Amino acid sequence: MNPFTDVSAQHLPPAGRQVSRLLAAGPDPALTRHLDTFGPLDADAVTPGFLTVLESAGLTGRGGAAFETGRKAMSTARSGRKGLLPARPVVIGNGAEGEPLSFKDRTLLAHAPHLVIDGLLALTRALSGAQMYLYVTAVSVPGVRRALSEHPGARRIEVVEAPETFVSGEASAVVNRIATGSALPLDQRRRLSEAGLNGRPTLVVNVETLAQVALIARYGAEWFREAGTPSDPGTRLVSVSGPAPARDVVLEVPGGASLPDVLRSAGMDPDSVSAVLVGGYHGRWVRPGPYVLSPTGPAGRAVRPGAGVIHALGAGACGLQVTARIVSYLAGESARQCGPCMFGLPAMASNLNRIAAGERNPRLPGELDRLARLVSGRGACRHPDGTAGLAGSALEVFADDVRAHLNGRCIGPGGLAA
Ligand code: SF4
Repeated sequence: MNPFTDVSAQHLPPAGRQVSRLLAAGPDPALTRHLDTFGPLDADAVTPGFLTVLESAGLTGRGGAAFETGRKAMSTARSGRKGLLPARPVVIGNGAEGEPLSFKDRTLLAHAPHLVIDGLLALTRALSGAQMYLYVTAVSVPGVRRALSEHPGARRIEVVEAPETFVSGEASAVVNRIATGSALPLDQRRRLSEAGLNGRPTLVVNVETLAQVALIARYGAEWFREAGTPSDPGTRLVSVSGPAPARDVVLEVPGGASLPDVLRSAGMDPDSVSAVLVGGYHGRWVRPGPYVLSPTGPAGRAVRPGAGVIHALGAGACGLQVTARIVSYLAGESARQCGPCMFGLPAMASNLNRIAAGERNPRLPGELDRLARLVSGRGACRHPDGTAGLAGSALEVFADDVRAHLNGRCIGPGGLAA
């Protein structure tokens, strides 16, 4: 599987099908189009007070963990002021997007790179930061360099290429890549906000989050909150994929959007899909139902969008076989630094593949559950936890399929040979 496909306007949805803030300029990435659409932003005029604006906007990170951006930035600013010799922070725009089902960040960079650059400049200015980086995969590098060359004030932004691996976008791996060339997560004793790149306070921010920062710097916190819900304000980009004839599409949806609406906007009939993977390979399976996409409540109905990945499973596909393939892939993507990840994930993959293949061994689900508990919280990064969460949700959501497989049959039309 090569998850790093090329980007083109084909990922953009038809006009008029959704809210349009980040993608309002359409497919043309030129600076003139950007300025015509959004107007200019004087990043030099941004003050530290902007961090309070960000906090009241309620923006959360769009890269997966959904931390509050304003609070995260304030914590980095505070670290920079501590100590006998105050250190000016480093800000890194993270567009690594190692998640195989995600393509929203590279689509954003292809069509609205100046919004990302504006956000990076504004946030760095608010933090009195010293260094700026854009960390993006090879497919985005030429477009980003072109945008930097025409953007006033972007001279000091350095571009670093992210390798195309699952863990290359983990925050400590980003810092490690820039510092040493190796994109492996670090076993950190101190937070990056205290001691990151070259010992400086470092803020790693997803590129979509930066584009949202650029809009808040222009239009303010109240405007940002006009979309979404009080607990999940603003919009987010989602990468939506599913069975043919649905095409892969990036949608911009309001916070708290309903999952069936998102599927319909992507051209799918929610009644025709058997399950939906929300949040990507470190996300969870749900049956299509009245869920809302939100990192916060309402309890029982909210499903965390993670890095904004929605992948629908066709009625004819076996969720156990799909999950077994994903867990095998994730086991292969371990950075091989921590025991639980090196040995636990391959054991989980093997167990899941045996269930998926129809081995009549009733102990397998219990053993998978035991392994998932064993690896959780024991790696230097969250790779084991995310993988365990996905496997656990498969056992829960596909419980009928598990029972059928343990009896040597698959209830999906594809059967066990699929
Ligand atoms: S938990 Fe896994 S992916 Fe994360 S640092 Fe350890 S070995 Fe690498």
